Amino acid sequence: MRLFAAMFAGAALAASAQDAPITSFPYTPGLDVSSMDRSADACSDFYQYSCGGWLKNNPIPSDQAKWSVYGKLYQDNQRFLWGILDSLAKQGEGRNATQQKIGDYFAACMDEAAVEKLGAKPLAPYLARVNAMKDKRELGAVLGDLHMDTGDAGLFFGVGSNQDFANSNDVIAFAGAGGLGLPDRDYYTKDDDRSKEIRNKYVAHMTRVFNLLGDTPEIAAKNALVVMSVETALAKASLTRVQKRDPYNLFHKMDGKGLRAMTPAFDWDAYLGRLGLAKLDTFNVTEPAFFKAFDAELGSRSLAEIQTYLRWHLAKEASPYLSPAFVNENFEFFSKTLRGVPQLRPRWKRCVTLVDSQLGEALGQEFVARAFSPKLKDDTNRMTKRIEQAMRDDIQSLSWMSDATKKRAMEKLETIVNKIGYPDKWRDYSSVEVKRGDFFGNVERATRFEQKRDLAKIGKPLDRGEWLMTPPTVNAYYNAQMNDINFPAGVLQPPLYDPKMDDAPNYGNTGGTIGHELTHGFDDQGRQFDAQGNLKDWWTPEDGKAFEERAACISDQYAQYVIVDDIRINSKLTLGEDVADVGGLILAWMAWKAETIDKKLEDRDGMTPEQRFFVGYAQWACENDRPENLRVKALTDPHSPGRYRVNGLVVNMPEFEKAFSCKPGAPMAAVKRCRVW
Ligand SMILES: [Zn+2]
Repeated sequence: MRLFAAMFAGAALAASAQDAPITSFPYTPGLDVSSMDRSADACSDFYQYSCGGWLKNNPIPSDQAKWSVYGKLYQDNQRFLWGILDSLAKQGEGRNATQQKIGDYFAACMDEAAVEKLGAKPLAPYLARVNAMKDKRELGAVLGDLHMDTGDAGLFFGVGSNQDFANSNDVIAFAGAGGLGLPDRDYYTKDDDRSKEIRNKYVAHMTRVFNLLGDTPEIAAKNALVVMSVETALAKASLTRVQKRDPYNLFHKMDGKGLRAMTPAFDWDAYLGRLGLAKLDTFNVTEPAFFKAFDAELGSRSLAEIQTYLRWHLAKEASPYLSPAFVNENFEFFSKTLRGVPQLRPRWKRCVTLVDSQLGEALGQEFVARAFSPKLKDDTNRMTKRIEQAMRDDIQSLSWMSDATKKRAMEKLETIVNKIGYPDKWRDYSSVEVKRGDFFGNVERATRFEQKRDLAKIGKPLDRGEWLMTPPTVNAYYNAQMNDINFPAGVLQPPLYDPKMDDAPNYGNTGGTIGHELTHGFDDQGRQFDAQGNLKDWWTPEDGKAFEERAACISDQYAQYVIVDDIRINSKLTLGEDVADVGGLILAWMAWKAETIDKKLEDRDGMTPEQRFFVGYAQWACENDRPENLRVKALTDPHSPGRYRVNGLVVNMPEFEKAFSCKPGAPMAAVKRCRVW
């Protein structure tokens, strides 16, 4: 479970315009003058000034919910991975064991004719297991098996390994809420017309899937309402995303006796036995109210209703791996209706994504060998150290923090581990059998491997070298419990990090990202964990209060911004990301100034170095979004839209106002500034 891994940017999926594998990345410069709109006034709308050309030249591809600089790089990245996988799939002789696995996995996935021929058949053994239930008491054993096979928390809940909040060196079992088909609990509870419409369409979608499973239209419609009613009960008992930002809301350790007493209708002995955890006696139940609601549902529902619920979630989870009838039905609701995407992604994209998610560190080895040189690693490492030094200087200079808290903050900063590019030790996939003609079987075996790997960590010494993202990932994260920052090789590529460019745009862009991740260690969530990753308050009460006041300034500022329609940013949800954005770029600025103190900086393209720093920053955030997708993001995404990640940030920096000689009172020259770091 990745409870406290704060992601930098949700990577978008790829476009269909260029449907051919590639063996080298097309070059896009870190600062692209043609992406700017120099007819716009930088002091009125800096996002338009930096991204206006990009927005105009980059309409959203038909298979995408949004399109962005990250999304475009991700598309190149996918085509590059396609090149690797395509050649390994075709190569008969001379592949090593890792290459065989990813090559054959990809080949099996691409064989749509074989998948079509099987129809819903691969799902049959799972449905049979559910249909054979004679008593609700059997749910423990059945769910245990299904969780091992599907790895999915969509089936009521999930159990996985996680660091103990109280002692970060201990890996314990976390039982977490799940069980919903829609992307957030709010979809079930909100009363506006749009939410009602989505719920109706969701029921209609479930009806069609039950139909595909062989139910008559009448039965299918009835079954869909049963699922909706179970999920609504679970949703009402689930925490909101804002509530989940407070780790104390998710920390409820109990022993096996406590767990069983809380959910008497569920057979934990049978369940844990199936997970190979029969003797386990320490649990963190992240959301007790949810588990009580689950127990109440189990107690009050008929066996047939429980079976209906399970059948739906099995079909939903398996749909991407089944025949086109299931794939298309799943796409129609979850992509087209929910996010406004007109067209299904071509099969190769879906297969590349699958290899990355199931055998990511095997694919990652091939990616790193081709796209991440030791020099690139050294250079980005050096930049990271610069940003860290800036944070040291910054903390020491804070007027609002006492020496006592500063000492602890410095301890935490010094303990942060920098992970750059890829893990020191690669994951061993030797026990995963991959067969060329067995796509569904490969998915099952890789899923079981991952489930076993995850659960096997419980009770064992913590592996501090582990990564939560694969090397090709175009994203980055900070993990509060590991207290590490992680930058996969995929995110350290042009135009985000451009070795051909000078420092100004690189520090603005990737430097800003590094600063962003570092400050996550000190945002509203991260600051609650100490240097060792334990949930422990290390702030003096006055300093804690001073932090909250400064964070509230940012929260109030972002709450003004409209996302789509009349929906404003839920700035309590985006607080950590907004604070990290603002603080991150200040650190990048300080680091850039230190790095270039002895260098003579020159104007380029009619811009000063300072202006290029800011344009370099802004150009990572250019994005076009579909209104449907914006509505989903308003409920689920802890990041603010790109426009505000740029404009909302620069208004807080006097350095920006000076760089562009903005007149007092200009929209980008705020009278009231917010600053935490
Ligand atoms: Zn972030």
